[in-house]
Amino acid sequence: MIFHIITIFPEVIECYAKFGVIGRALQKGIASLKVHNLRDFTSDKHKKVDDYPYGGGSGMVMQVEPFYNAVKHIKETENESRIILLSPQGRIFNEKLAVEFFEKKEPLVLICGRYEGIDERVKAFVDEEISIGDYVLSGGELASLVIIDTIVRLMPGALGDELSAKEDSFMKGCLDYPHYTRPDEFDGMKVPSILLSGDHKRVALWRKKEALRATLQKRPDLLKDLSSEDMKILKELCSEINEKILEGRYEPVNH
Ligand code: SAM
Repeated sequence: MIFHIITIFPEVIECYAKFGVIGRALQKGIASLKVHNLRDFTSDKHKKVDDYPYGGGSGMVMQVEPFYNAVKHIKETENESRIILLSPQGRIFNEKLAVEFFEKKEPLVLICGRYEGIDERVKAFVDEEISIGDYVLSGGELASLVIIDTIVRLMPGALGDELSAKEDSFMKGCLDYPHYTRPDEFDGMKVPSILLSGDHKRVALWRKKEALRATLQKRPDLLKDLSSEDMKILKELCSEINEKILEGRYEPVNH
């Protein structure tokens, strides 16, 4: 799958993309990334890509023409691509959307804004606006990296252990189970003994229960379309919690 990013800060993307999961996927050729410097697509001799807002007001607005030229250039080789404008006003990005993009395999063109925003007419040649959350970033670069990282994790061979993406939070309609590594005791805090037992069946059951516990406590809204086995575990968890509440031992999760 190929990702194109249009930005005035190509170095930010290129630097991040050297490391970790994205870096490895690019090296292995599982994914490819082309970063386009918006300033290469302006006709202004000083490579300016922004101007004062019509109607006055604070901040500068990014001009439509450089974006138009950049998208046109990409479309010459990538006709079937999906053009995405990173924007706090867009559809909220989540794991489900990442899977959707991954399954479609369309080349993604991610347009990063800066300053006060982008000339509204850019939307005429954009397929959709995407936001990574209800907050305002200073630019679309972090948002584009969030999207690419999430999609690349789903690609076979991108992670050291392919199973690990399938076990991640949100992948199975619930959050991930707790993880532990050495030492088995730290500052009086012990690793649950079941994880040291070597009994894979019991470990799997424990992990399922703890994943459901975490979801019930932190994100009960995710608990939908559960299997009968999950429902059974959930009922057990609810009676455990009820018991703790009645005995005054329940510690709610704060967040
Ligand atoms: N004035 C704009 C508004 O309130 O809608 C915000 C502009 S923001 C300072 C500059 C750029 O950062 C945006 O054009 C967009 O590309 C990017 N950006 C900011 N917040 C974002 C978010 N939550 N998701 C995706 N991109 C975002």
